[in-house]
Formats: sequence, structure tokens, C-alpha cells
Amino acid sequence: MSDRQTFTYLSRTFEAAGIQPKTKYGQNFLIDLNILDVLSRGADFQRNDVILEIGTGMGSLTKRMSPSVGHVVTVEIDRELQVLAARELASCPNITMLTCDVLRNKNHLRQEVIDAISEKLAANPGAKFKLVANLPYNVATPIISNLLTVTPLPERMVVTIQRELAERIVAPPRCKDYSALTIWMQSLCDCEILRDLPPSVFWPRPKVFSSIIRIIPNAEKRARISDIEYFHTTLRALFFHRRKFLRSQLATATQDYLSKPQVDTILGELGLSESLRAEQLNVEQIIELLEATRLMTKKANDQPD
Ligand code: SAM
Repeated sequence: MSDRQTFTYLSRTFEAAGIQPKTKYGQNFLIDLNILDVLSRGADFQRNDVILEIGTGMGSLTKRMSPSVGHVVTVEIDRELQVLAARELASCPNITMLTCDVLRNKNHLRQEVIDAISEKLAANPGAKFKLVANLPYNVATPIISNLLTVTPLPERMVVTIQRELAERIVAPPRCKDYSALTIWMQSLCDCEILRDLPPSVFWPRPKVFSSIIRIIPNAEKRARISDIEYFHTTLRALFFHRRKFLRSQLATATQDYLSKPQVDTILGELGLSESLRAEQLNVEQIIELLEATRLMTKKANDQPD
């Protein structure tokens, strides 16, 4: 990170520009320079990597990554910050700055961002695409989960996020943090918390703790799921009513295409008691369950009238 990204430097620069950090954009800047080493080790930078950074901020993490990798595509929603960052990054030849909301909507990343990554990868055959960022808290979940549905897929994501979210991603079954997001992430990736971060490593200090998490998409895990979009949609529907029992959760999640007797058949074949709740099933069991509902639907659709 730029030696200049300290509390004093940041607060003076903001004052001189007549602006203040915006809470609505999750503007908490890293001021503990040691954290970058943890991010770098987790990211395992290679000379031709194509890095996506979401949240350029003042450009300090961007500037620090630039000499170690092939290219950095960095996205910032706040025009005022983008102007300051452009000054900081003027001497870096391998940076693409995009000023936009990285999300088109809560289920999709902005195509312009994906196109910029694809273009850089096409120019660097064999290069890996990695997300390395101090993510804005309020949009960290859609960024991480939507990046698993895009092409190209990142080779890894190494990001700072709210600790509560990191704990949801790595949660075991049967605990309050175990959710559709947990299963989505663990069914497709290897996820590991690398470090917990106290509020004091940021300016302004957030009210909560953060964590650096490393998420590595795993092709073998992904191959177990035949239809990723179906899996994602049905998984979210399954966990929508957490307090209902599994039979009722599954019947509601698949109500448009499966009858209750079909739901009972599936639960019976998999030996799952209807008095369980989805949160009591492990990741493998959920994959098996949703694969069975998908196959039953397909079989019904394939039947001639
Ligand atoms: N990278 C800087 C650092 O580490 O100090 C800043 C990180 S700060 C936690 C998050 C940044 O993301 C802010 O600069 C904020 O304006 C930007 N941001 C927030 N929402 C965004 C969105 N939807 N799209 C792009 N950037 C966003």
C-alpha cells in the first residue's frame, strides 16, 4: 500500500478536497500497512495476473498491486474519489479505472466490468483472473456470490469483508450462520478465513470487526452440480422460510414444477425425515436433494403428453 495511506494523509487529503468519507458507500480505508502483506500472500500474485479490485478508494491498494501483476481493473462508484485516485495512479501503466456501480442489479455484475477483465485475459493467454479488494460492506455479498456465475470465473478471491459475513461463508451445518449463502459458497469453492481485523486498521473506524477471506473456486466441486442457475435459485427458495420443516420448505421451493407426492418420493428415496429443517443438512445432502428435484422435474418435462 502507498506509504501515504495513513490516517493523517487520508484525513488531510479529504479536507483539502472538501469531502468526507461516505458511509453509504462503505468507505473505510485500510490504514494498517501490514494488512497488505496478508492480502498479497493470500492472493499469490503472479506477473501476468489480471486483478479485479472493487472499490478503488484513494488508489493505494491499486498502486501497491500494480508492479506485481499484469493488469489491475479497478472499479469505483464515487466520482469524487475517482478523481483523487486518478492522480495517485497517473504513473501506473497497467491500470484500467472504471467509474461505475460494479453491480447492474443485486443478481448481476455490470457487463462493462466483465468485458474489461475478458479483454485483458484475452491479451494475456494463461493469465489468471483474481479478485483482490477491500470490499464495501454493503455490497460484498452480491459481489462475491455473483462472481461465481460469470465467465470468466475468478481463480480466487481474496477480500476484506465484515467478519459476520465471513463467518456465514465458512459456517458448519446446524448453526445460526448456516444459510443459503454458506451452501452456495461451500458447494462451489474452498473458503478460508485468513485473518480477523479489528476496526482500528481502517479509517474511519467501522463499528464491526472484519476478516480477510480467501475463496478458491473448485472445479471438482462445481462438476457435481449439473445446472448452476437452477441450484442457486432453488437453494435460496429452500432457505427462505428457515423455521419451516424440510418437506414444507422443499414443497414451497419447488411448487411451480413438483407436486407434494413427488416431494415426498424424493425425501423418501434420500432417507430424509420430513421433520428435519434444511439448515440441518450438510452441503453434500443439499446438493443431492436439489439434484434429485432437478432430475424429477426434467423427467416430468421429458414425458410425452
Ligand atoms: N481500496 C480502498 C482501501 O482499501 O482503502 C477503499 C476500500 S473501501 C472499503 C470501499 C470502496 O468501494 C469505497 O471507495 C467505495 O466508494 C467503493 N464502492 C462502494 N460501493 C461500490 C459499488 N457498488 N461499486 C463500486 N465501488 C463501490
